[in-house]
Amino acid sequence: MIDRAGWDKTFSGYYKGEVAFNADMKAHTSLAIGGPADVVVSPEDPVSVKNIVLLLGRQHMPFLPLGGGTNVLVRDGGIEGVVIKCKAFGRIEIIHDTGDTVELFAEAGVPLQKLVNFCKDHGYAGMEGLTGIPGTLGGAICGNAGSYGCEIRDVLISVVILRADGSLERFRAEELGFGYRSSRVLPDDIVLSANLGLRKDDAGEVAARTDEFFSRKKSVQPIWERSAGCVFRNPEGMSAGRMIDEAGCKGMRFGAIEVSSLHANFFVNRGDGSAADYLALMEKVSGKVMERFGIRLEPEIRIVGKG
Ligand SMILES: Cc1cc2nc3c(=O)[nH]c(=O)nc-3n(C[C@H](O)[C@H](O)[C@H](O)COP(=O)(O)OP(=O)(O)OC[C@H]3O[C@@H](n4cnc5c(N)ncnc54)[C@H](O)[C@@H]3O)c2cc1C
Repeated sequence: MIDRAGWDKTFSGYYKGEVAFNADMKAHTSLAIGGPADVVVSPEDPVSVKNIVLLLGRQHMPFLPLGGGTNVLVRDGGIEGVVIKCKAFGRIEIIHDTGDTVELFAEAGVPLQKLVNFCKDHGYAGMEGLTGIPGTLGGAICGNAGSYGCEIRDVLISVVILRADGSLERFRAEELGFGYRSSRVLPDDIVLSANLGLRKDDAGEVAARTDEFFSRKKSVQPIWERSAGCVFRNPEGMSAGRMIDEAGCKGMRFGAIEVSSLHANFFVNRGDGSAADYLALMEKVSGKVMERFGIRLEPEIRIVGKG
């Protein structure tokens, strides 16, 4: 395991940002679950990310990109290697204005809600349905985050990705193979930035639509509790939440992890829950759904780390 002296010897002077060793992943995930990562580094700019990735490659050290940690379950054994936390770079700029449309440049670490609010304040239409989704733009691009019929891919023009070999590539949105909560972004690709295209509209109307979606979301999702969003993917044409509810799982508990009574596809951490508890509850719930519907639910959350 790398310590500060070993880290400084290789990386010092090549990046700007904070670094922590044997870092508790509870502090880096919305679920507040997970064992320690050997290193968590939070580079302050894309050049720092690139330098770190190049040096890690030379040392054959594994790394995991992380945004807001709002869609991951980190196992209790923690993470071997380096977590590159892409939250400390978050510039938003208007780069082109045609009168009817606008093109924005945004860095991957920008909180998705900051972007939604930026659009709301300026009367830029297209992202209203993404209101209330936590995490960063980078994380939203990796998983094609969406709700209320709106997905991040709908507003993406292009994305800049840093490859594990240190090369930079710009992809047009249609080259990234976006699907339901999925993209072709590889586990060791790092999304650095994106250009987004939005339609200009009346600011009051954009704000009204955004606010309406947000109040709907608040009434159906436990957004103030510790969760990682939807646990399971919706099977084709069906709602995993409804199936879990109809299988009688609302309120079911394993240790401190509970199936939300507001939205059955959200598991909330009611105390000092562990990844083992969370995984056991997933098993229990998917067993009940299998019994009732004959369908095996697939995880939507990303499960990482050692058991
Ligand atoms: C209360 C709540 C409500 C939610 N509601 C929704 C919803 O309505 N719709 C929805 O789609 N999701 C929802 N989510 C899930 C989650 O917020 C989204 O998936 C979000 O886009 C994840 O972003 P993040 O930055 O937190 O990603 P993380 O959780 O940090 O990472 C998710 C994945 O993306 C990768 N990743 C993150 N950043 C980068 C990067 N810069 N480069 C490369 N890879 C990266 C990670 O390696 C990981 O595999 C919800 C979550 C919560 C807690």
